[in-house]
This record gives sequence, structure tokens and C-alpha cells, in this order.
Amino acid sequence: MYYDAIIISNLNDFVFCPKSIYFHGIYHKFNQKMYHRAPQTRGSIGHENIDKRQYSSAKRYIQNMEVYNEKYNILGKIDVYDRKQKSLIERKYRLKKIYDGHRFQLYAQYFCLLEMGYEVEKLFIHSLADNKRFEIALPKGEELEKFENLIDEMRNFDILKNKFKQNPAKCEKCIYRELCDQNNAIG
Ligand code: SF4
Repeated sequence: MYYDAIIISNLNDFVFCPKSIYFHGIYHKFNQKMYHRAPQTRGSIGHENIDKRQYSSAKRYIQNMEVYNEKYNILGKIDVYDRKQKSLIERKYRLKKIYDGHRFQLYAQYFCLLEMGYEVEKLFIHSLADNKRFEIALPKGEELEKFENLIDEMRNFDILKNKFKQNPAKCEKCIYRELCDQNNAIG
């Protein structure tokens, strides 16, 4: 199943704009300095400690671990799992508001950990620049349904066939806007 697995980091991109994950797939091989703007670059730097497993040397923390969930066929990496507090923590450079895409990424990591046999009781997103921590409720009810709908939508999305609703304000902020003809967008 791995070959057609959904990459967890693409969930947030897909929510932002389905087309952006195509650019993400094409350009991730190149040096990010070529197309990242300042906020994305700062975000990457925020992740450097995690990627080098430097969050803490304490054994209670599992860092930067690859995870997979067979039920949803999703794979990716977690930032930090705290064995003692049974909590999963995703770090971002700076977040003032939590959007659906952020939550769904964390849900995906959560389901991977559960299926892999870890106990997870709490979910957090940590904004590094202002040292704020947001607790995210465990997925259930309507939120779980929205997450599952997103997975279905991603699995069935075809850029050549599907038109998608887009907010031009998003295109203004998009790191791919100079590469994108924005043709598939409506609205
Ligand atoms: S420029 Fe607009 S349509 Fe193109 S990928 Fe970015 S957000 Fe999507």
C-alpha cells in the first residue's frame, strides 16, 4: 500500500490549495531557497532541531520518527512524542491561529502512532517564535468526519479533471504563484 500512500505534510497544502501539492512534489527536490519566501524559510529553520533530533536528549522523547497508518494509508514523520505525558507535539515557527490543515496533519500523525501501538492522550501545536502552545482536541465526531472526507477527497482528486474553489487572496500569498497559471481555480 505504501506506493500510493498520502504524505501527511501534503494535507495542509491540499487544504490551502489542491494544486499546490503538485508544485510541492515537483520542487521539493530543489534547494528550498530557490522558491521559499521568508515565512517558509523560518518554518524550515524551526524544524531543523527536530530533524537533527535535538529537541531534548531525554529518553522520554521520541523525535522525527517515521510513521504509517494502514487504515488511511498515510505516512509521514512526527516531530515529538513525549512518552511520559503521552502527548504528540508538532512545532511550527509562528502560529497565531490554528487552521484545519494544521489540525488534520496532527490527527494523521496521531492515527499513525495509535496504529503503531503508542498511547496518545494529548495533542499540541507549539508556536516557537512566541513560545505558545495550543492544545488540540482528539479527533472525534464532526472533526473526524471532516478529516476522513479530506483523505477521500485527496485520494480521488485529479488536477486535470477537478476544478477547485480558490480564494485569490491565497494565490497572493502562495510560494508557487509565479510558477502557476491558476487555471484550475474557480471562485
Ligand atoms: S498560485 Fe493559487 S492556484 Fe496556484 S498553487 Fe498557489 S494557491 Fe493554488
